[in-house]
Amino acid sequence: MYKVTLLPGDGTGPEIIEATRKCVDATGVKIDWDVQECGIEVIEAEGKVPERVLDSIRANKVALKGPITTPIGKGFRSVNVFLRHALGLYACVRPCKTYKGVRTYFEGSNVDLVLVRENTEDLYAGVEFRAGEEKTANLIKMINEASGDKKINTRDDTTGVSIKPISYEGTRKVTDFGFDYAVKNKRKSVTSVCKANIMKFTDGLWYDETRAVALAYGADFEWPELAEGVKPDPELVGKVSEATGIKYMERLIDNMCMQLVQKPELYDVIITQNLYGDILSDLCAGLVGGLGVAPGANIGEDAALFEATHGSAPKYKGLNKVNPTAVILSGKMMLDHLGEHEAASKLENAVAEVIAEGKDVTYDMKADRNDPTAVGTQEMAEAICRRM
Ligand code: NAD
Repeated sequence: MYKVTLLPGDGTGPEIIEATRKCVDATGVKIDWDVQECGIEVIEAEGKVPERVLDSIRANKVALKGPITTPIGKGFRSVNVFLRHALGLYACVRPCKTYKGVRTYFEGSNVDLVLVRENTEDLYAGVEFRAGEEKTANLIKMINEASGDKKINTRDDTTGVSIKPISYEGTRKVTDFGFDYAVKNKRKSVTSVCKANIMKFTDGLWYDETRAVALAYGADFEWPELAEGVKPDPELVGKVSEATGIKYMERLIDNMCMQLVQKPELYDVIITQNLYGDILSDLCAGLVGGLGVAPGANIGEDAALFEATHGSAPKYKGLNKVNPTAVILSGKMMLDHLGEHEAASKLENAVAEVIAEGKDVTYDMKADRNDPTAVGTQEMAEAICRRM
């Protein structure tokens, strides 16, 4: 019996989580679900993420989560970002795979990508300075004094500033995770993505470190000159006993976007920073049929939290309408994480069969979104359970 924290979230979250729980239970794996409410209503009432929620995840080490709404430009900070920080969930893993029967603009392409996104640093660190505040003006003055000829050349009372920290440690951890994932899952390549031609001290550092980790993993550099003068990361030397043969590639984020749309089959595992990863995950989800089918996991040293890429889709709240597939596939990832690989495959196959048949699927998976034969969230989950 496993004990898992279950966060229903808000908006359509509780409906999709209920559907997912049915499917995970139907695999036969025994789970004692520790339900913790942490949606927008709870946050507004208590002013913060309740400590009992964090305690539960820390104790159980595994959580399955529905989406949680974040007010735009005001109110509390994103609960999703907060949880990733508070629990040290440094790697976000988002597989994007083509399932037969899912309609996409890329019919016939066979996409099978895994995006690994750094989850705690970058512009999402939450270090921000509001325009018009004294401390912001002071910061701008300090930056202008320290930065030589590169000045912030707008007025210091009409400029907001967000800080982008990228560290060797953060980059090492997520890159190590990406290579380890590639080795364990018999993947062929790891592509490191950023914008080092423009941001030399953050994204330049990122490439320095991803190259050093690639060398420690005995990777095969697509462009060998990138390895010149680079030493394998000493913290990781000896972690792999022989060359893994995994191909190491680099792409700039803008080029990566185009390449993914034109030839996604050339890529396999992609490692990138927080902001680029956020954007690329939606792009990759779009390649395989949209947010309804894009699962995810947030992994740390002491806990793992599984959730879909999509948000709370509040306009559909309570309508038993939205697609539960992304959270159900996140449940599949959770089963793999627990070592229940057979149950995970059984669940994934059942999902794939229901989608391929195209009968018991939600409106967004029908050719015509107004198709009256579309089933609801719970009915799709029940069809998946019947296949197991
Ligand atoms: P969203 O993902 O909720 O919705 C985007 C579009 O996709 C909408 O048209 C929606 O109806 C559709 N959609 C989403 N999930 C679907 C599903 N399962 N089946 C069918 N259609 C689906 O994104 P948004 O509208 O930008 O955000 C809504 C709220 O969710 C915001 O407050 C945002 O901050 C939050 N959010 C939370 C998470 C999270 O909890 N990890 C992630 C993203 C967004």
